[in-house]
Amino acid sequence: MPLGYQCQDCSYQGRKFKQGRCPACGSARIASKDDTEEEQKRGPLGLIVCIVLWAYLAFEIGKRLLL
Ligand SMILES: [Zn+2]
Repeated sequence: MPLGYQCQDCSYQGRKFKQGRCPACGSARIASKDDTEEEQKRGPLGLIVCIVLWAYLAFEIGKRLLL
């Protein structure tokens, strides 16, 4: 289950922070946990997909130049 948001100052975690402030310490520095976790998962995979696509493109261009 996604945790939602986390306070950057006291690391309090909750699904919803009222008025964008931490209910524990009142800090406005709230980070969305879902986004950071998803970015970390997507990062390397997106890079691999990009490399594969470029390798395929280079392969196709090379094939046409040789034939
Ligand atoms: Zn806090």
